[in-house]
Amino acid sequence: MTAASMPAPAALPSVEPAPAPAPAPAPTPTPTTTPIDVDALLARMTVEEKVGQLSLFAPVAAGTPGNPATRQRSDTEQRDDVRAGRITGFFNGQGLAGKRDLQRLAVQSSRLGIPLVFAADVIHGFRTVFPVPLGEAASWDTALAERTARAAAVEAGADGFRWTFAPMVDIARDARWGRGVEGAGEDVLLGRRFAAARVRGFQGPSLAAPGALAATLKHFAAYGAAEGGLDYNTVDLSERTLRDVYLPPFEAGVAAGAASVMTAFNEISGVPSTANPWLLQTVLQGEWRFDGVVVGDYTADLELVAHGVAADEVEATRLAFLAGTDISLQSGLYRDHLPGLVASGAVPMARLDDAVRRVLRFKRRLGLFDDPMRGLDGPDRTDWPEHRALARDAAVRSLVLLKNDGGLLPLAKDGPRIALVGPFAEGPGDLHGPWTLFPGSRPPVGLAEGLRAALPDPSRLTVVPGLRTAAAVAAARDADIVVLALGEREADSGEARSRTHVGLSPVQQAFAERVAATGKPMVVLLRTGRALALQGAVRD
Ligand code: BGC
Repeated sequence: MTAASMPAPAALPSVEPAPAPAPAPAPTPTPTTTPIDVDALLARMTVEEKVGQLSLFAPVAAGTPGNPATRQRSDTEQRDDVRAGRITGFFNGQGLAGKRDLQRLAVQSSRLGIPLVFAADVIHGFRTVFPVPLGEAASWDTALAERTARAAAVEAGADGFRWTFAPMVDIARDARWGRGVEGAGEDVLLGRRFAAARVRGFQGPSLAAPGALAATLKHFAAYGAAEGGLDYNTVDLSERTLRDVYLPPFEAGVAAGAASVMTAFNEISGVPSTANPWLLQTVLQGEWRFDGVVVGDYTADLELVAHGVAADEVEATRLAFLAGTDISLQSGLYRDHLPGLVASGAVPMARLDDAVRRVLRFKRRLGLFDDPMRGLDGPDRTDWPEHRALARDAAVRSLVLLKNDGGLLPLAKDGPRIALVGPFAEGPGDLHGPWTLFPGSRPPVGLAEGLRAALPDPSRLTVVPGLRTAAAVAAARDADIVVLALGEREADSGEARSRTHVGLSPVQQAFAERVAATGKPMVVLLRTGRALALQGAVRD
């Protein structure tokens, strides 16, 4: 791995860098009584404490044994790490009481009392689940995306989280890739607009205000361009395509004030993003004036060894850190190897200080030094009825009507006898989407249940769940209209959920053909995490 150039093929003309946008507007901090002096704090820190500010982990559940061979800490060791200032914060996993306890430990028992930051994958809602980002983008309504992100931030903020690993702003043009569901899809302009809207929504007017979450633009960069739509696969792009297609949503998110950026797992033309100084310094910091924190994706620093650019963990640490990855997520590499690299001079102290300064400023911007317990002392809320109307509105606006032959829709409430058939006809499953880590206590309403409640005469509805072809055909024959509930399961899209076939599954297709052969007017309701290539009865 060599230093600072994006490996654009020499034969292609290089593109003039876009004019640098004005520096991102810093949200107005809430006035504080004693603004923390970051440099004075830095001057008091040992190397071990500095490195601790660059190490973020998932919490270890109580009773978990340690395993030095896999670097897995026990819960006791992890608490010792917090006490010793060896951890900057935690992501996902722990409930309110767990976070409260850890924060108390950090603030009251560590030498410098630097508060922890709690991060989470708050992707499309927290307790209240909003439509998957791809669905929401189909509304073309950026104000809606801003409002749902705001509501999610308020809910997550009340659970002690201050930082979300969202929005995902990867342009996704290959429907085989499973993670398109997490972003705004294939279009660059739409991607820019939704990136900015979601950043504004998560962060609100001030990061230091209650209910604000620091946003993370991810995955930097071109993660969606994985060859063959295979997650984590090689990306090989010209600088022109990178700048014209994949970078603009990130640039828009930075201009909207995003406080952090997450590096991507993938390489671009041979250089893994987590170790790419051209991306992280020349473009992000230089051209776009980004001054927030860069967090590596989950063990992405360690994966530099698997990428073949680092001989071992020590080299992986050096490459990732010198390239500009400030925080190591979950691998523990920085904790284990940065002190030695600094001692040997392979990593300058100035770079260590630069990264720690970024993290401390980030924490200051979040108001953590002033109010480390914000959101941690309140009641554990799992239900937010005040956000339900927004979720319903967002769901309605995210629906896409592909066609409406003969004006079949909307169905009259007191009109036809309806046969609702198919694998998604009934039940609360597969309604949340693949990234719902913190759902509230109320399960979603299944199709049959919702329809029954909406119809003045529910006996006019016959439901045949599953793929029971003979029963579905019989129900269709007895009805005036048949509604087919088809598509993908939640687990068919998301991380590591690539598909080679992007149509309906062959069994669903055959089922649809048999039902369509009854000749009854048919409504096809598709739920899906990607654009499906439709054919036959479900298209014609
Ligand atoms: C994903 C990220 C996510 C992180 C932490 C990774 O596997 O690629 O999008 O934020 O895990 O959960």
